[in-house]
Amino acid sequence: MALPPVFMYHSISPSTLPDPYRLRVHPNRLDRHLRLLRRLGLRGVSLSELLRAHERGAARRLVGLTFDDGYTDYVDHALPVLRRHGMTSTLYAVAGRLGGTNEWDDGPRLGLMDADQFRAVAAAGHEIGSHTMTHQHLGGADAEVLRAEIGGSRDALQDILQAEVTSFCYPYGEFDAAAAEAVRAAGYDHGCVIGDYRPGDRYTLPRCYVSPRDTFAHLIARMVRHELRLRL
Ligand SMILES: [Zn+2]
Repeated sequence: MALPPVFMYHSISPSTLPDPYRLRVHPNRLDRHLRLLRRLGLRGVSLSELLRAHERGAARRLVGLTFDDGYTDYVDHALPVLRRHGMTSTLYAVAGRLGGTNEWDDGPRLGLMDADQFRAVAAAGHEIGSHTMTHQHLGGADAEVLRAEIGGSRDALQDILQAEVTSFCYPYGEFDAAAAEAVRAAGYDHGCVIGDYRPGDRYTLPRCYVSPRDTFAHLIARMVRHELRLRL
């Protein structure tokens, strides 16, 4: 069986500020997405849980839920919705920017969770993965940058969480063979990209982008497309 779809969210917020990169989903829409999954008999889980279940042949009724960058709005607006639906997720932290902002974007500044917030989210049963130290482009990066961004962020997060960090997410979904090898060498169990269905391995797992305007029909179309592309 193919790996079930893994959905990629970023900011979950009712804010009406400009959203030039289309990264913001309204909490009510997230609520509707998760309600749809339940209606389809599906449950959202962290990427690590999804992979473990997949390896046991037990992932038929699961999908992955991931939230990139670690925005503070996750605590206020995603966590309560996930809890209401009995679902978990993987949150990807930019380890060198905890408590800061998304200064790598030229869009509106958004707050990033601090170490205490990440610990609280982990204690609530969600997975914390790494999204590098500084949200660097990793395609074509040299060995020193790869080691600092990929290995360094794992060490930093493990220190903060006092737990193993096994999941990695490439900023901008950008990677090459050297970056994927650096993720493996740093001790991660897997890594995920964005919508890239070229043949890969567990260090380049594809995810489905969720748009701010996705309705039920869009989400179902994304799931069907995921199935079809993995079967090609
Ligand atoms: Zn990101």
